[in-house]
Amino acid sequence: MTDRPTRRHILASGALAGIASGLLPELALGQTLPPTPECNDHGPATPRQTEGPYYKPKSPERTDLYVSGMAGQPIEITGRILTRRCQPVAGALLDVWQADHKGDYDNAGFTLRGHQTTGPDGLFRLRTVVPGAYPGRTRHIHVKVQGKGAPLLTTQLYFPGEALNAKDGLFRRDLLIRTAKAEGWLAGRFDFVLDME
Ligand code: FE
Repeated sequence: MTDRPTRRHILASGALAGIASGLLPELALGQTLPPTPECNDHGPATPRQTEGPYYKPKSPERTDLYVSGMAGQPIEITGRILTRRCQPVAGALLDVWQADHKGDYDNAGFTLRGHQTTGPDGLFRLRTVVPGAYPGRTRHIHVKVQGKGAPLLTTQLYFPGEALNAKDGLFRRDLLIRTAKAEGWLAGRFDFVLDME
């Protein structure tokens, strides 16, 4: 992806230095990254993908799936939930589940599972670790997004620069998270577009 040292990336790196030292900024870091995908007025909605076998209902409400000391690369993913006219969707539900850094799901409990609701600006913020690949699958995060009046969106998000992306039949470029590298935390950005006006 774009790793050119743009002003946005420099800003992101500065903010990440803060997060690495324990000074969590008020503003979601990923907001300094360019949005992905760009929302075009009346453009396509975020594509749907299979739910897979590991979804569990009734996940805890939380934005932080990362627990201090958890193995793996911590990442903060931020973005917006938008309509096809690029308007923010307030009160949308974002339910997330993923494997740990070794590629294992917690099917007994709710580790690395959680849901949250967007505020009036349609923003979400998710702190987690980069999931590990598992047999047949490249790294991915599963999500369900529900906006009032929109059909439920079940899909998966992917990571840039992964050799296994090319070998995973489910992988799609338009479901790539944009990331900025830094010491400690990684910043990620993804905007969902729901199939609603
Ligand atoms: Fe999976």
